[in-house]
Amino acid sequence: MTLPLDGKTVAEAIDRATRAAIAGAAPGVPPPSLVSVHLGRDSPFRFYLRRQAKAAAALGITFRDVPLAATDGPRELVATLRALDRDESVHGVLVEHPLPPPFDFFQAIEELRPLKDIDGVSPRSLGLLVGQRPVHVPAVARAALRIAQHYRLPLDGESTAVVGRSPTVGLPLAVLLASPAPGANAAVEVLHSKSGDLASRLAPIRSIFSCVGRPGLLNRATVPQGAHVVDVGISSVPDPERPGQQKAVGDADAKALDGWAGSLTPVPGGVGPVTVAELMAATVRSWQAIVRGDAPA
Ligand code: NAP
Repeated sequence: MTLPLDGKTVAEAIDRATRAAIAGAAPGVPPPSLVSVHLGRDSPFRFYLRRQAKAAAALGITFRDVPLAATDGPRELVATLRALDRDESVHGVLVEHPLPPPFDFFQAIEELRPLKDIDGVSPRSLGLLVGQRPVHVPAVARAALRIAQHYRLPLDGESTAVVGRSPTVGLPLAVLLASPAPGANAAVEVLHSKSGDLASRLAPIRSIFSCVGRPGLLNRATVPQGAHVVDVGISSVPDPERPGQQKAVGDADAKALDGWAGSLTPVPGGVGPVTVAELMAATVRSWQAIVRGDAPA
């Protein structure tokens, strides 16, 4: 039997702590505020924006989305982020990415100090993670680890694979899993499109964290029997049950792995809701640091 690793339960536990932190503020302190900067209202990120706005509203976090104008270029993006970084009424800033050329996501996001870079994806934030002095860690990486910790997946000293090596998802997750954090300490192998035959690479692995975005990549041929699978990938595919509509799927073929994998996160309902909860929790941590006046530079 394959244990479903339900993300909603984990997200609810994070949200409870977030609500308690907000409720504990001194009277008169303005609520936490999160801003999402993106390329425009028709961007493919509308779904994420709606989800972030809904989660923020439910927790009492002010959420504002800042679309760049169609005529705006890299200079306007940099100017927008610089202004948001200085604005002490804003506690966290997200930049929806990837960005098309001529925008340079990593250059632009360096305008945010690590405390405001709420998703921990700037080169400075990522460096602090590797240096084991993280301010914010990419929410999706925290979410994947949080699920593994909640369901007590065997990581400590165990052969663990991260499939995918992007600087904002796969690599920070690998660093986090290998870190000496409680429930981590995994022996991590990072796989990618050049690491050869996936099935033989995964054969000795006990827990797989898949961060690719390729539906069906994980199936009975690639996943060893009994392995635990945390499916970070999200792809949009035609929904056979609703002609003309799309649905979200992960990297795992959930039907094929049912009864084969030891456990599996569903998509949707696995890593996604925990990622949103982690973003909100990170916003509240920055808010606490800024309102207390002990925010690092
Ligand atoms: P990305 O930048 O496209 O990276 C994909 C990675 O997968 C690359 O490192 C690539 O290797 C590797 N890859 C591609 N084909 C492969 C194969 N056949 N075997 C092994 N590795 C392969 O994507 P990303 O931004 O990291 O995002 C990864 C996935 O996570 C996407 O589906 C995204 O939607 C999802 N995501 C989910 C959440 C959430 O909240 N659940 C949040 C963020 C992202 P190379 O480096 O060699 O090209």
